[in-house]
Amino acid sequence: MQIILTLDYELFMGSSTGTVDKCLVEPMRRLCQAIEPAQGRFTIFVDACYLLKLQEYSSVYNRAASDLNMITSHLRQLSDAGHDLQLHIHPHWCFSTFDGMRWNVNSSYYKMSDVPDDTLLEMFRAAKAMLEDIKGKPVRVFRAGGFSAQPTELLTRVFEATGLDTDMSVCPGAVYDSAQQQYDYTRCPDKAAYRFSQDLCVEDSAGKFLEIPISTYPVSPLFHWRLALSRVLRLKAHQTFGDGQSIPASSGSVFRRLFTRVPCIVTIDGMKIDNLFAAHSRCHRRGGDLLCVIGHPKLATPYSVDRLSVFCSRLAKQGDKIITASQLHYES
Ligand SMILES: [Zn+2]
Repeated sequence: MQIILTLDYELFMGSSTGTVDKCLVEPMRRLCQAIEPAQGRFTIFVDACYLLKLQEYSSVYNRAASDLNMITSHLRQLSDAGHDLQLHIHPHWCFSTFDGMRWNVNSSYYKMSDVPDDTLLEMFRAAKAMLEDIKGKPVRVFRAGGFSAQPTELLTRVFEATGLDTDMSVCPGAVYDSAQQQYDYTRCPDKAAYRFSQDLCVEDSAGKFLEIPISTYPVSPLFHWRLALSRVLRLKAHQTFGDGQSIPASSGSVFRRLFTRVPCIVTIDGMKIDNLFAAHSRCHRRGGDLLCVIGHPKLATPYSVDRLSVFCSRLAKQGDKIITASQLHYES
């Protein structure tokens, strides 16, 4: 079996965004160490609108210039080490402001569909060009901020205009509707990868674009009660390395998780990494050939990093291999 370990390389989206060192550099160092037993590389989705905004403020504030320098050299090191940098867009950055110390986040533009068409296209072009400049290679794979890649016609329009051809935003079986996130992936094909054209959730073998969904796994309410308890107890092993604040989950989604078994993304974040082991075993039992996992450096914890290392040792013993999105798509 092959495993794609994806990471969304980003600060927090709530009122306190956190710092580059604590949300990105430090947890990445620990995560890279943790996957050493499997000799794997991450597929890293870089929140490139944040970089565009840092660049804009670099001539005004030293802090913006030093954050941008730190990130640029960090990303180059990661790319040189074989990690696969690809495009992630959280559009609200392009509408947010910086006062030299803190970001004032504009929450009206969290989704791609919140942004006027022309502005969105320009944003994608500039963000992709900046990331390609850092990486020194083309960027072709995309993940939408908050998984909100619909409507498909918006996505395919920016793909056509910018040369992107692969999406990794879909979480099969999941549905979400809030001011910040909106998607319905309940009708998606039950496949590790498929081509699409008009509709992200409908396979079209002749389609120009490729979807590699994030794997999902049905999680019981009991697990979510345990998760809630660990948050209340604030145990040190479960404290995130990241030092900002997430946007609170919608009350509807919290309620659903606490009382029904729901499909959840397979992730290495915090305590949720426990479900990775079960999802991996299930994939083996079903004869699956690909598991696509997501994580966020900012949400890594001492516990999750330890468990990731155990997981990677297990992969090495079973002969499973960690590959990047580029290896899957372009080199096979
Ligand atoms: Zn994100």
